[in-house]
Amino acid sequence: MRIVCLAGGIGGARFLRGLKAAAPDADITVIGNTGDDITLFGLRVCPDLDTVMYTLGGGINEDQGWGRAAETFTVKEELAAYGMEPQWFGLGDRDVATHIVRTQMLSAGYTLAEVTQALCARWQPGVRLIPMTNDRAETHVVVGEEHARRAIHFQEWWVRERASIPAQEFAVIGADVAQPAPGVLEAIAEADLVIFPPSNPVVSIGTILQVQGIREALNPKTVVGVSPIIGRAPVRGMADACLTAIGVETTAQAVLELYGTPLINGWLVAEEDKGVALDGVTVEAVPLLMSTPDTTRALAEATLSLALRA
Ligand code: GDP
Ligand code: CA
Repeated sequence: MRIVCLAGGIGGARFLRGLKAAAPDADITVIGNTGDDITLFGLRVCPDLDTVMYTLGGGINEDQGWGRAAETFTVKEELAAYGMEPQWFGLGDRDVATHIVRTQMLSAGYTLAEVTQALCARWQPGVRLIPMTNDRAETHVVVGEEHARRAIHFQEWWVRERASIPAQEFAVIGADVAQPAPGVLEAIAEADLVIFPPSNPVVSIGTILQVQGIREALNPKTVVGVSPIIGRAPVRGMADACLTAIGVETTAQAVLELYGTPLINGWLVAEEDKGVALDGVTVEAVPLLMSTPDTTRALAEATLSLALRA
């Protein structure tokens, strides 16, 4: 079976671990969000690609859900001692090595997809991980009152401000011209099934869907999604701030409607959200928390079984 999974960071990576356990023989292609990417101290950082790579490759900090296990922060402290900004981004020493390799390869002319493949040669994630695009498409957040609007990088809003400043709008700079990375549209075309894991529907999946041709390629496919919202709250993180910014309620129903038809065919919600419904979509209520390897695998199994009926 050929499966394509769109993915952001933590929610996507955790789900993928369950999917690998539920479908060990499947050929899984992951289309990773690169809207969160940022250049810091001259280093190209791709947080979502790295979260997927480290999680599936056994290098993730399990408690935190992002960054390397057994991480130290000497480089960060030394940069701060020079007064170097920004100081709000947690660049760990082990993690820095990844960004050095990436930056060096990009400077030598390799594409981000080629670099990601090279990094994965070490981590062996057991899936084919492709960035949504090789082009720059960086999410910015428009903040401030009417006469004092400014756009800040998504990471500044998310990490530094903890999404506490109201966002007026998200602008993915470059998305209008960004082309899917080689292999993205081909993988979708060949897929038996496409999964939207419980990643952020606005700044992870929503960003991937803005890349030229991806939404159109997905429309005719069987797409099943897992709600990142239970009741009226994101399971973890601050997805509610993103949904509010685009005028969408923080509910499993509203996120389903945001994806809409003909894009989505099946939708998994939590047991307390049983009433969720949309014409043309098969909805099922199952336990949605990925708290242990077993519950995560069961969620992936439920996704695969829903796909057969969607
Ligand atoms: P990020 O890029 O690291 O923010 O990660 P993603 O975009 O992949 O995922 C973030 C989303 O995952 C958040 O909106 C959470 O609500 C959702 N999430 C995290 N853990 C769980 C879980 O155990 N179950 C479900 N259903 N959603 C989860
Ligand atoms: Ca992210």
